[in-house]
Amino acid sequence: MNYTLIPKELRPIAEKIEAASRISERDALILYRSNDLNALGMLANVVRERKNGNFATYIHNRYINYSNICVLSCQFCAFAAKKRDAHAFEHAVSEIIQAVAEALPLGITEVHMVGGLHPTLKKEWYLDLLRGLRALDPDLHIKAFTAIEVRHLAQRIFKMPIPETLELLRETGLGSITGGGAEIFDAGVRDRICRGKETAEEWLDVHRIWHRMGGRSTCTMLYGHIETLEQRVDHLRQLRGLQDETAGFSGFVPFAFEPQTTVLAHIKRASAIEQLRNLAVSRIYLDNIDHLTAYWVSLGLPLAQVSLSYGVDDLHGTIMEEKIFHMAGATTPQQQSIAALEHAIREARRIPVQRDSYYRHLKRSTSSRPRSEAELACA
Ligand code: SF4
Repeated sequence: MNYTLIPKELRPIAEKIEAASRISERDALILYRSNDLNALGMLANVVRERKNGNFATYIHNRYINYSNICVLSCQFCAFAAKKRDAHAFEHAVSEIIQAVAEALPLGITEVHMVGGLHPTLKKEWYLDLLRGLRALDPDLHIKAFTAIEVRHLAQRIFKMPIPETLELLRETGLGSITGGGAEIFDAGVRDRICRGKETAEEWLDVHRIWHRMGGRSTCTMLYGHIETLEQRVDHLRQLRGLQDETAGFSGFVPFAFEPQTTVLAHIKRASAIEQLRNLAVSRIYLDNIDHLTAYWVSLGLPLAQVSLSYGVDDLHGTIMEEKIFHMAGATTPQQQSIAALEHAIREARRIPVQRDSYYRHLKRSTSSRPRSEAELACA
């Protein structure tokens, strides 16, 4: 590492990073407060490269939001609706299976499915859905349900303990649970923006149970609303702690809050610099989570591409249809083609590789070497 490019106050942290030593919460705060974005990127890249070499991945997936009807009303959420609302929707099992059946010939390897906390859908509805998807293709990975959906299913719909609920979902086809719903773990923040949602301990416990069953999941952070930097660091601390215990998180996916059509519309959206800083600090602090995903739905593909130089090694997926961020006002496209994701990766001088739901490499692009500037200009 070229220490002359690292400001003096970050050098002790840089030494820890170079020695592959863990940084402290105090270090993470110093990094968050640094104005030297290039230095943060340089430091994050040391961790990224150590873990993932010159590869950057993406997944060919299809998002499905089965319903937005929800018993809660989180302040940051423009997706949820009550049954009486004009924008409420609830897809039939057959409609969802049809949508996934149409995506399979395109080569998707994963369906990613979340919804609101629906008050009346029955246990059999969820099981029929999983069975139907499993019957379509036994190799299709079904990634579904946030920790709070799992708790809702267990307590209000299945009326079973969480471990038994997860076991039944797995037997019926569930491949992994999603990382959503973590928001910011701090109890005061949760009380203000998502009262009634599960606590940090409850969120972590669902993932802990799933990991102990041998399952894997991703983890997230919704930032850029009312939280402080200390609360972000505390959130990361709790994720790192559970990962030390279970090693069950495959990747971390931070999302910047999308305020436009929410009741928190007065909050200014996180800037590009803030998003890159958050990715870089996360990459450095979460030394026990192998992958860092840039969620292009919120970043936009151009900034997601830049983030490959700020610790990111994964550009998430093709997605095909996204509702949660777009209903909150995101102006990014609904989907990305494999060609667009690979081109973004190559331009960043990384080797594009399609991955599976556990971030394992599936296949490299036919032209997987990073291309020269002249070649890129002609592409
Ligand atoms: S964030 Fe989830 S739990 Fe909260 S209102 Fe939206 S859909 Fe419901």
